[in-house]
Amino acid sequence: MSRILIVEDEQHIAEGLRFNLEAEGHEATIAPDGERALALLLGERCRFDAVILDVMLPGKDGFAVAAELRAAGHYVPILMLTARGSAADVLRGFEAGTDDYLPKPFELSILMARVKGLLRRRRWNEQEAPQAAAPDVYTFAGRTLDFAAMEVRVRDETHRLTVMECDLLRYLVRNAGQPVSRRAILEEVWGLPPDLDTRAIDNFIVRLRRYIEDRPAAPNFLQTVRGVGYRFVPEP
Ligand code: CA
Repeated sequence: MSRILIVEDEQHIAEGLRFNLEAEGHEATIAPDGERALALLLGERCRFDAVILDVMLPGKDGFAVAAELRAAGHYVPILMLTARGSAADVLRGFEAGTDDYLPKPFELSILMARVKGLLRRRRWNEQEAPQAAAPDVYTFAGRTLDFAAMEVRVRDETHRLTVMECDLLRYLVRNAGQPVSRRAILEEVWGLPPDLDTRAIDNFIVRLRRYIEDRPAAPNFLQTVRGVGYRFVPEP
């Protein structure tokens, strides 16, 4: 059983989600606006395993809620509900630190599958024993990428990673030394439409460079490959 927070002001949608999540054996709580969601998530008493977060909320919107959570060091997986066809929403959501998105209106079965995927990835990231094929801890040039703990450690600094940042780093490590295209990152890493504005990836790379590079503006490990995308080089 997982505890899931539904942040949605449209009552019929929120109640429908709660009904279906409870039918799957989860415990679901509804927060009708961002303020109440933040109070629940940042409060001491409740611990949630995932959040379904609508973008359109009265007062504080979903982007602000996600950004405040991440700024407070809270890394619960977030599935954001965006307006259909709005690439801008998707990009802003990722930049705010969300892990996955689903356009509205959505098919209930798809939403349930995405929630399941989010919970599975989190469990996998947190609990699974290291496997030879996919090391959970990868070390290069004095840096440690700890996929199990979802963090990057460089000297005495530790940076927490979102599920999406973890997935991207894993992919780059797996393809170390080879250029990977932005399109491949969108499709293969995140399962997003390849026609999405690729600047979203550039923003992720900027963030990852801040974690691992000595001088993010002159990167050694996460290189730009002009006209293609990026290349991870563990020993430049
Ligand atoms: Ca709404």
